[in-house]
Amino acid sequence: MKKPGRNRREFLGLTGFGVAGLASGSFLGATVSAEAQNSDADPHHADLVVFNAKVYTVDRRMPNAEAFAVKGGRFVCVGDAVEAKAFIGKGTRTFDAKQMTIVPGFIDCHNHAPGNTLLYELIVGNPYEVEFVTIASIIDKLRARAQKTPAGFWVDGYFYDDTKVKDRRQLNVHDLDQVSREHPVVVHHRGGHTSYYNSKAFELAAIDKNTPNPMGGTYDHDENDGLNGRVTDRAREVFNKVGQRETFTSEQKEQRDRDGLAYISKQFVRYGLTSVHHESGDLFALQQVRARGELLHRVSFETAGEILEAMIKNGICTGFGDEWIRFGATLEHAADGSFSERTMALSKPYEGTKSPYTGNVTDTQEGLNAWAERIQRAGIQPNCHANGDVAIDMVLTAYERAQKLAPRPDVRPKITHCTLINDDLLRRIKALNAVPAVFDTYAYYNSDKFHFYGEQRMKHCMAFRSFFDVGIHAAAGSDFSPGPFAPLMGIQGMVTRTGWNGETWGANQRISVDEALQVNTLNGAYNSHEETIKGSITPGKLADFVVLSADPHGVDPQKIKDIEIVLTATGGSTVYQK
Ligand SMILES: [Zn+2]
Repeated sequence: MKKPGRNRREFLGLTGFGVAGLASGSFLGATVSAEAQNSDADPHHADLVVFNAKVYTVDRRMPNAEAFAVKGGRFVCVGDAVEAKAFIGKGTRTFDAKQMTIVPGFIDCHNHAPGNTLLYELIVGNPYEVEFVTIASIIDKLRARAQKTPAGFWVDGYFYDDTKVKDRRQLNVHDLDQVSREHPVVVHHRGGHTSYYNSKAFELAAIDKNTPNPMGGTYDHDENDGLNGRVTDRAREVFNKVGQRETFTSEQKEQRDRDGLAYISKQFVRYGLTSVHHESGDLFALQQVRARGELLHRVSFETAGEILEAMIKNGICTGFGDEWIRFGATLEHAADGSFSERTMALSKPYEGTKSPYTGNVTDTQEGLNAWAERIQRAGIQPNCHANGDVAIDMVLTAYERAQKLAPRPDVRPKITHCTLINDDLLRRIKALNAVPAVFDTYAYYNSDKFHFYGEQRMKHCMAFRSFFDVGIHAAAGSDFSPGPFAPLMGIQGMVTRTGWNGETWGANQRISVDEALQVNTLNGAYNSHEETIKGSITPGKLADFVVLSADPHGVDPQKIKDIEIVLTATGGSTVYQK
């Protein structure tokens, strides 16, 4: 039934996918028909009433509840069973949660959403979990791909993680020469800032052992001073201009983008994510996926390049869009290198580096200043990638300057990663009300890399405790592909600071389960200026929630990541069910 005062297009946009989702499945065993979503017009009759649940609302005014009612995709009542059951009418679905735990839908504030990479490219590591592979297996996979690829065309491998190989050494140019001498071959680290090339690739790019490093990147050498294959950050740009790649018609490209987005949307809700900040991607494909009812999560769209230029030119500001697809901050404007790949810009050198190495700064202060001012004047939320203390300082300088020259209320300039902080940086982040999107799964997933930084530094990395203590709204940003995006893995790492290998780093930055839930929900909503419509189980907000197989407050903290996602609902509609 059509809702009064809402046109057909809006109606389809808001609930169309929900109907599709419901028609194909059941809600916790109770078969639900498509009509169930179309409740009667009586405002006191809900579409769904959930009761007998352990609800953690992440709403300070009422942190716990046992029941709620949903109508038109929003919570209309949160409280006890009597209150919620008063909303039961003709056609209301009811669900006895049998004391299962329910939390708000999780929000990931930094994700590259590489659905078509997952679907179509060669994957050489495990995108979702800690898993060790062998260099031989990587070579085998690449060789099989090369055999099907014409000479001169690139052979690419994705999701390599240098500390998740059984061989306990770096992949190198000699390994990749075993794949092919006729094809340029590259393996991309999942961190996105380093790649490993074979000799053919170096030859095509005209890089040899005597080539000097460009600004913001390096061609790494082995102990005999030859190229070892690893190339960091901006030094990789030259490779993009050489060799041949498969080309696609615009129809093929559209189809791949659509299928990739639909695929990754399914993965997100499988892990309980109901909102994700996308680092760009194809906006047209995103809208098509939605129109087909295959967009299961909400998107804050962060962009650069042509679309950002069009926004600036045409006066489109952050916040334009609706609760499914909305322009958020800009795409991360990079100020330095990577945390996991050890290229972030540090004030003190990396542990144990022979010639003291302090990482890569990838933009100048002048460049950052001009960029931030232009974005600020356009009414768009700026977003810079800054990992190291040196880069965070530069980004804050640019943000402070922009706010002084073109003051605007409530900008919430975003700092993606914001990994290594100190007291002065904390003070400046707080003063600007900047919003960090901090690595959440790294504490568990990447504990094998923290010795490159050392415990002294790790006490100030992914500093959730420090952010909470001074009232900074830190959110979770998995950065997938670099980090797995499972929010429960993230919460376990925040609570324990212990990794998969049993090592604990920076235990002073531990936060409580409740705080970690807030990071992954309400603080995520705040990050995109959407805290009034989502991020907690509160009447009036979008009914995005997750049913968990166990209460993260009650289990061994080292097992939080093993809690199962029983069901994910976006706008009150089931989008994933175990
Ligand atoms: Zn990123």
